Amino acid sequence: MAGNLLLTSPLEACSFIRPKELAAMQAAGMAAVRDLLFMLPRRYEDRRMFDRYDSLSSGAPVCLRGRVVDVGWKGWGGKGGKGRGRYVEAVLEDEQSLGNARFSCLWFSMPGIARMLCAGQEMIVYGRMKPYGKKLSMVHPDFELIREGEDNSIHLNRIVPVYSGRMGIPVRRLREIVWEALEQLSPEPEPEIYEFVPGVPCKTALRDLHFPGSAEARDKTRRRFALEECLAQQLNVAYRRRRAEAVPGMQTAGSSLLVRDLAASLPFELTEAQKRCVREIYRDMKAPRSMNRLLQGDVGSGKTLVALCAMLLAVEHGYSAVMMAPTQILAEQHYLKFRQMLDKLDVPVSLVTAERKEESHISFGGQGGIVVGTHALLYGKNVPERLGLVVIDEQHKFGVNQREKLIAREERPDVLVMTATPIPRTLTLTFYGDLDVSILDGMPGGRGKVVTAIRTAKDREKVVKFVRDQLEEGRQIYVVSPLIDGEESRKGKAVTKELDEWKALLPHVDVGLLHGRMPAEEKEAVMKDFRDNRTSVLVSTTVVEVGVDVPNATVMVIESAERFGLSQLHQLRGRVGRGAADSCCILISDNGNDAVRERLQFLCRTSDGFAVAKYDLETRGPGDFFGSAQHGLPTLRVADLVQDTRTLRVAQDEAKALLAKDPNLIDP
Ligand code: ADP
Ligand code: MG
Repeated sequence: MAGNLLLTSPLEACSFIRPKELAAMQAAGMAAVRDLLFMLPRRYEDRRMFDRYDSLSSGAPVCLRGRVVDVGWKGWGGKGGKGRGRYVEAVLEDEQSLGNARFSCLWFSMPGIARMLCAGQEMIVYGRMKPYGKKLSMVHPDFELIREGEDNSIHLNRIVPVYSGRMGIPVRRLREIVWEALEQLSPEPEPEIYEFVPGVPCKTALRDLHFPGSAEARDKTRRRFALEECLAQQLNVAYRRRRAEAVPGMQTAGSSLLVRDLAASLPFELTEAQKRCVREIYRDMKAPRSMNRLLQGDVGSGKTLVALCAMLLAVEHGYSAVMMAPTQILAEQHYLKFRQMLDKLDVPVSLVTAERKEESHISFGGQGGIVVGTHALLYGKNVPERLGLVVIDEQHKFGVNQREKLIAREERPDVLVMTATPIPRTLTLTFYGDLDVSILDGMPGGRGKVVTAIRTAKDREKVVKFVRDQLEEGRQIYVVSPLIDGEESRKGKAVTKELDEWKALLPHVDVGLLHGRMPAEEKEAVMKDFRDNRTSVLVSTTVVEVGVDVPNATVMVIESAERFGLSQLHQLRGRVGRGAADSCCILISDNGNDAVRERLQFLCRTSDGFAVAKYDLETRGPGDFFGSAQHGLPTLRVADLVQDTRTLRVAQDEAKALLAKDPNLIDP
């Protein structure tokens, strides 16, 4: 019986998994034995030697084994009352400690616990000892009952894995299932991915991942799998890159007279960083291979102008260029700006959005031209002939597949993608490893500074006064609310209510409203009014988050700021500070939670988008940077993008070396 499961075997093949458990696992997205065995333990407990009750002062979590001597309801609140403040207390005796030390575990609002425990029961608890009332207690510890008369060999006297019980299967049972799967795994399961670390067979490594013999064995096996995963991913990235490079590209630039004309017509100089990035792009476009470049720059660093220069290079060489933006508002903004900037240069510009789609085939009559648009560019005949350059603005709002759809054509155009906020280096390596990177560091000069401050609802009067003062000086204001578009939500008021409040606070001021559910033309009209300073205050949901550029706006008020990720707040803050006047970003938050405060304070201290992104990644994981599985790369189960930077680098080098030896990856 033992030894016939493969990593690819479906979970149904595991006769030891009960039907209900199988259903729960499948509902959680598990299909094969591989998914089960790569479910990482959240932590481990060394049950060869438990902590002792007398070593508790440090406040670090401890794992204790004890016997229940008393269990019951405690606290105030009385029977007839609501039971507020009532809790279940179990007094445990730690038999290992000298003198049989006693300690309590407390559970609030969990009446079921009382039924599970009884005196005499042995259990393992994990948590921090904290003062509660006069004594130290563990509040809501992780716990496991030791079943007497049952086989406890899997659960005791070893280092055991503890999984996060998100599937509703008890940890103890989950541990048994994993154990059984490992028992029945073939001694030589097909290597899951490229087997990079020789010597340790996969099965042994997997066992070490769940039931390690020592902490060292556990760390070693984790590193091994992290490395293998990173390698698989980097091979994928390197392979894509190679494939892109193998496509015969076009030479899409010749001379750069138009760029020079544009620069001469601008009221300001290009920054050094902009010039350097344009040069890097120029070099790529002039070469007969295809360009795959990422332009990274902080909010407000002037990426649009760099992109426009790139497009002019293509146009001058007789090609057309397309720029895709994630929202209608943004596409429209770019379009208007380009029209205005290119007025004297005689370069045609068109706009393609869902509304304008029916416009017939775009043609520049054999000459080059520029098309700006939204997703609508992906469909129908919205792309001009002789496409030489594709620019994707706010790339993270699109999936890799959408990018590919625009690019995949007989003659592959050059590609420039732009990010909204800078992203940490590990993420660049992981998700954009197939691209060359230009970094637009340094901001255009002549800008006022941006001050960020946290305020509570109590300060509202002061905030309103400040807003009034700014309005008097002719400035414009954004108010962003996390509330859902236009509709009353259960949690809070609708953004329309927010609008009414501000209208009442500022009786003689024109206040506009913008939210995602408005029809596109309405959105455009609202944005246009704000851009042209016909409205002074714009109350909005996060639709103004990306790209919007109104230099006269100097105040950004963000309601319930704690509800946003830092990168998003940084993006929102980037809407102000675009002109010569000083600006201010006011984060309104009544949330007193320490972690929340710390997060917001971090933003007040930092204006560097790279630092913000790094902080976000470390505290919230990569989810904020990329939509689910949009990137189309193998997911990382073991490797950790925060910790495993070095592993990732090693894997990248290794992947390059492997591909150089075996370009088509025929040899596994
Ligand atoms: P982002 O990089 O966030 O997309 P934008 O391209 O929208 O930033 O540029 C922000 C603002 O800076 C725009 O108003 C743009 O006209 C202006 N700008 C761009 N380059 C320069 C420069 N070299 N000097 C002064 N202002 C600039
Ligand atoms: Mg932009």
